[in-house]
Amino acid sequence: MDKRDGWKDKIRKVEPYIPGEQLDGEGIIKLNTNENPYPPSPKVEEQLSKMKYGGLRLYPNPDAKGLVKALAEYHGVKEEQVFVGVGSDDVLALSFLTYFHSGRPILFPDVTYSFYDVWADLYGIPYERPLVDEDLRIRKEDYYGENGGVVLANPNAPTSIGEDANWIRDVLDHNGDSVVIIDEAYVDFGGETALGLVPEYDNLLVVRTFSKSRSMAGARIGYAIGGEFLIKALMDVKNSYNSFPMNAVSVLLGEASVRDDAYFREMVGKVVQTRERVKEELIRLGFRVMDSQTNFLFVAHEEAKASDLFARLRERKILVRHFTGPRVDNYLRITMGTDEEMTRVVREIEEIVEELT
Ligand code: PMP
Repeated sequence: MDKRDGWKDKIRKVEPYIPGEQLDGEGIIKLNTNENPYPPSPKVEEQLSKMKYGGLRLYPNPDAKGLVKALAEYHGVKEEQVFVGVGSDDVLALSFLTYFHSGRPILFPDVTYSFYDVWADLYGIPYERPLVDEDLRIRKEDYYGENGGVVLANPNAPTSIGEDANWIRDVLDHNGDSVVIIDEAYVDFGGETALGLVPEYDNLLVVRTFSKSRSMAGARIGYAIGGEFLIKALMDVKNSYNSFPMNAVSVLLGEASVRDDAYFREMVGKVVQTRERVKEELIRLGFRVMDSQTNFLFVAHEEAKASDLFARLRERKILVRHFTGPRVDNYLRITMGTDEEMTRVVREIEEIVEELT
């Protein structure tokens, strides 16, 4: 008899999401969690240096006002159409809790962000996962049937493939009776946004993050844009579990980032340029490389196994992501580092491929 027997069955058991390793040691090139290799805007640093520690004494504004205002102006929407959270993971988790309450199965692809099924399980939301096609693309026809909601990452992760706004429009036209969430974590790197559809479809929620294109994964800022009705519902649920999820520091730093668009565009441009160069080089080395609209490449080698490549890269202190699971287990997801880092990574990959083939 275990002394925990009396109470342990009363505890919720869940299968958690496992994020990529956060190793930081000498000489590691970290390409496993889709962070941005360049620093945030210098305006963010300026803001940080101006902050007074005494300001921490007070609770922050419960609605993250300054940041919401900056985002509303930036995207040309009303403040009542913007919701901010502690990373887009927080915004997405809360959206699942808020919008997927019908008891009917929600839909998302079998190959996508692997947090979606974790949240669904956590909240007891039933789900179905239509298979992506043999080119790893989402089949929009699979989202036409009756459902309790739809979640699509666009561009999708880890495949890196994006669909255009008309494709999203078609999904919306077939889903007048559900909330459709489009997770645009990577859209700034060349994807087509669904934001232009928000005025037409009040069941559409577009979710974004500061973690990738704004180089601010550590600040934990995500946001959603949608119709006022959707945003109000999200706000009510947020205010039913925590009045102040957004800390005062992140709110000010996020605002500073939004106000520096020139820097943002320049850094995104650099990552895209590196990605296109690395793509060509990997094709030359015998890789199949998906057309990416993100800050990473999803690649499989014709002969060398992904698990071997992963292990050899790790020995050389280069961390990439290898997913297990049917159909994608021979792929690696490689986040773009700085241009110099990627020159070295390509050279090391070339050596490893020679060793393995
Ligand atoms: N959506 C997708 C598709 C992602 O890959 C990630 C990053 N893991 C997120 C959302 C969450 O990012 P964050 O919480 O840092 O905004």
